[in-house]
Amino acid sequence: MEKKAEKENKPLDFIRQIIAEDLKSGKHHNITTRFPPEPNGFLHIGHAKSICLNFGIKEENNGVCNLRFDDTNPSKEETTYVESIKSDVTWLGYDWGDQPFFASDYFPQLYEFAIALIKKDKAYVCRLSPDQMREYRGTLTEPGKDSPYRNQSIAENLDLVARMKNGDFEEGSHVLRAKIDMASPNLNMRDPVIYRILKTAHHRTGDTWQIYPMYDYTHCLSDMLENITHSLCTLEFEDHRPLYDWILDTLDTPCHPRQIEFARLNLTYTVMSKRKIMQLVEGCYVDGWDDPRMVTLSGLRRRGYTPASIRNFIETIGVGKKDSWIDMTVLENSIRDDLNTNAARKMCVLDPVKVILDNYPEEQLDEMEAKNHPQNPDMGTRKIPFTRELYIERADFMENPPRKFHRLGPGREVRLRYGYLIQYVSHKIDEETGEVEEIHCTYDPETRGGSAPDGRKVKGTIHWVSAEKAVPVTVRLYDRLFKVENPEGDKETHFTDQLNPESMVTLTSAMAEPGLTELLSGDCVQFERQGYFCVDSADSQKNKPVFNRTVTLRDSWAKKK
Ligand code: ATP
Ligand code: MG
Repeated sequence: MEKKAEKENKPLDFIRQIIAEDLKSGKHHNITTRFPPEPNGFLHIGHAKSICLNFGIKEENNGVCNLRFDDTNPSKEETTYVESIKSDVTWLGYDWGDQPFFASDYFPQLYEFAIALIKKDKAYVCRLSPDQMREYRGTLTEPGKDSPYRNQSIAENLDLVARMKNGDFEEGSHVLRAKIDMASPNLNMRDPVIYRILKTAHHRTGDTWQIYPMYDYTHCLSDMLENITHSLCTLEFEDHRPLYDWILDTLDTPCHPRQIEFARLNLTYTVMSKRKIMQLVEGCYVDGWDDPRMVTLSGLRRRGYTPASIRNFIETIGVGKKDSWIDMTVLENSIRDDLNTNAARKMCVLDPVKVILDNYPEEQLDEMEAKNHPQNPDMGTRKIPFTRELYIERADFMENPPRKFHRLGPGREVRLRYGYLIQYVSHKIDEETGEVEEIHCTYDPETRGGSAPDGRKVKGTIHWVSAEKAVPVTVRLYDRLFKVENPEGDKETHFTDQLNPESMVTLTSAMAEPGLTELLSGDCVQFERQGYFCVDSADSQKNKPVFNRTVTLRDSWAKKK
């Protein structure tokens, strides 16, 4: 309840304020937004910011939000990406209606608009080479020069653009440019290219087109064709807004969406752009786009992030106009909070050492009752088998423990979670490895459930599994992919030099309580005292789960800094 009230009282961000004013003034009666990914890679957590913003505004205003693929670059785009993007948006919990839209569906209309621009003497075919174009463009401090083709007749431009479209010319030999102002202080307004020749098949339109519209030209017109009211994009498009408006004004379109820019999400300890993520995938630094260490949505999902945790994270960071960095801890805390409330507690020993209870009858099997969640009785209880031989964590025993070590050691008594109090008797060392091989203890039958009737105090509680009944599981201890806050911050090194060598540690001898083999792919649990773990969706097999560590119980990076 408190949380809801908090949400309702939260001041609106600047975009929601604009929308509220537009509704109040009657400028708009319905709100339509869009999320426009280019299908040239998988979505990442940065895209989630844009998705939650656009679809969130739709939900709050009972409006519409289109999913539109901005597929104007056939050489980099693929159907696999289209499918992954659709499933990621659905997974986040958003609905784009019956069908997604594709900019490529507008190719015929976009071409007609180009003809209209030529007829208005607002576009021309230019034959400067790419090098000449650059030279004519000028710089930030110097104005550009008019192209010698700028004043060609309308008839000639119409003829040339038709031939470009027919495939009569080579790639790079001709482009269609908007005729704006070569002296504009804004480089985007210096007669930008709006069409180029590309003899590449498109994933949807095949060989139909030999020319493809540029992003800036396509985007505003696609927004207009879909009656978008507010076109929300990231700050780097601020300088493109005059072009967005120029195209719609010049064509005098019936609808003119308002472009509003917001700050993109930057996150520490990771790289975000699709190009960099692609390098990690192609260089085999990670195990595919959905590697659980990646901040792609498919990677986060495989890691154990829930849609709610991602939506909460995006809500926490808010929407602003100034670029800033968000600490990875904020993202990690969002899933930690979610799983702290929702994940069932289980026991799993990651690095087992055997404990033998000398006074426990060999054939005896006890069933201990354990809570699935210490604070939530609705999550119920379960029975865990207790036998004479158990496993505990190797790290929970020390031969020469310091005073503050409240676990097992010579002379010590410790509590087994949901079990009994056990008292150290002796231990055996493996002569070859020098490691502890087994520990002998006695149990106190009067302490079932963990408390002593005589009231004696035992500080430490450790987790355990029955050696006889436990099941072997593979556990992957995932950690941050990069060891530094800003992997791209050092000009001397490549970001791949900053990879954290310990970002994935695979444990093959972990032993889990028996019920864990029944978990399904994607299920998340807390291994008591160890962290939150999720059943891997790619590598788990029937009765042989692979557990990915989603996040540790506490932030272990804070103290490293
Ligand atoms: P990248 O830089 O990773 O390649 P992009 O911006 O090229 O991303 P698009 O597919 O063009 O990827 O993006 C779709 C939408 O998502 C755009 O509106 C874009 O502004 C938004 N977006 C992309 N990255 C972020 C980010 N880090 N934070 C917020 N929004 C983002
Ligand atoms: Mg892009």
